Amino acid sequence: MARRRCSKPSCQGYAVSTLTYVYADSTAVLGPLATYAEPHCYDLCQMHSERLTAPRGWEIVRITPDPDALKPTSDDLEALANAVREAARPRYVPGGDVDHPPAPHGTVEGTRRGHLRVLTHDTSYDTPSSNEQYPHEDL
Ligand SMILES: [Zn+2]
Repeated sequence: MARRRCSKPSCQGYAVSTLTYVYADSTAVLGPLATYAEPHCYDLCQMHSERLTAPRGWEIVRITPDPDALKPTSDDLEALANAVREAARPRYVPGGDVDHPPAPHGTVEGTRRGHLRVLTHDTSYDTPSSNEQYPHEDL
């Protein structure tokens, strides 16, 4: 559907609202752009909508669109919420503060003594008999 232009002479602006004259009530109703152009309606651009003045003895009724109608649907909000949660998921924690908290001071000291490395060496040395020591299959 081609966009309609302002009905004001010498105005090339695109219509954003439709002015309807209700002669019975001497009221000019300025509302959202009508879906179909009608003879008794006048499409106005943004500028002329704001500058609209009622003829003498007439009253202008401005109908502002329902703000709720412009909001995203519930599905869109849910999708947006999911996207936010996805983005907030801590894939990477700088410094590993969450997944790998700093070891207590005493543990660090123990590691520095090197005993654990010696035990690791002995374990690997006994690897051939590890199956007998840990019969996982029988559990
Ligand atoms: Zn205009």
